[in-house]
Amino acid sequence: MNRVAVLGSANADLVVEVPRRPAGGETLLGSDLHVFAGGKGANQAAAAARSGASTSFHACVGRDENGEVVRSRLVEAGVAVEGIVTVDRPTGTALILVTPDGENSIVVSPGANQALDVGHAEATADQWSNADVLVLNLETPRETVERVAAMAAERGVRVLLNAAPAEQVSSVTLAVCDPLVVNEHEARALLEDDGNSSFARLAERFLDLGVRSVVITLGAAGALYGDRNGIDTVPSFRVPVVDTTGAGDAFVGATACELAAGTPLRDAVAFASAVAALSVQRMGAQSSYPDRRQVEAWLA
Ligand code: ATP
Repeated sequence: MNRVAVLGSANADLVVEVPRRPAGGETLLGSDLHVFAGGKGANQAAAAARSGASTSFHACVGRDENGEVVRSRLVEAGVAVEGIVTVDRPTGTALILVTPDGENSIVVSPGANQALDVGHAEATADQWSNADVLVLNLETPRETVERVAAMAAERGVRVLLNAAPAEQVSSVTLAVCDPLVVNEHEARALLEDDGNSSFARLAERFLDLGVRSVVITLGAAGALYGDRNGIDTVPSFRVPVVDTTGAGDAFVGATACELAAGTPLRDAVAFASAVAALSVQRMGAQSSYPDRRQVEAWLA
């Protein structure tokens, strides 16, 4: 069975639909409030499990209702949640505005996610290193991510780092990424690109920096992937968009599931594109993720 471990953030997503983004000092009326379980780590774990991987999640949440929401939604998705620890800080929260074009603006209050420190990660290593692929993202403190990535690589676990939100990581960490997954904005920020380089050039630069493989997601334009065998693109599916929140996380979780099963990167990216395309047609993040049967039926 393909085993995925995700070590990362869990948040409550508070979502309001608005006619447009408010300007500074402006107050807008929006829709009713929707509360969803979110956080990149939790979303990625839900997507991996729904895609068919045996998935465990390792994170910190608060002693509050939102912590329970996070746990119960992951259990519904089929994720093993024994690695979620309760701490004395509020569960992480994301404030999300969704505009009619399906785009979103997000502010994250990390809260309990900050407690996922190096000591905690080291103490629980036997739990999260028992996987074929370990997924990390940068909503978790960077020192933790770097330590965990190194420990995972030492133990022969394949590391998928989603460098989001964009933050520089060491060359040692880059060297164990297989793949590094970033969207266009994160790619340009990490490489300090002025916006003029082609996506293929950005992928080449990541490979030059030592990553074993790289995936750059391009929203409705699809994704580009590369490794030592070359660089190529995978188109996205043309679908009616309702809400793109969590599309990137759906993509990451589904990619991890496929890689854990031994699927080549190109095919993993193609499957993940289908999962993400189904997810943008529904509101929310985890609540929008299809299970494997639905993806296969849609592709048939
Ligand atoms: P988000 O922050 O919205 O979760 P992201 O910026 O991390 O997403 P994107 O590059 O926007 O990531 O999207 C990830 C993948 O999801 C894309 O590579 C594509 O396969 C799929 N996707 C995203 N938006 C669309 C869309 N409008 N139509 C079809 N597929 C999409």
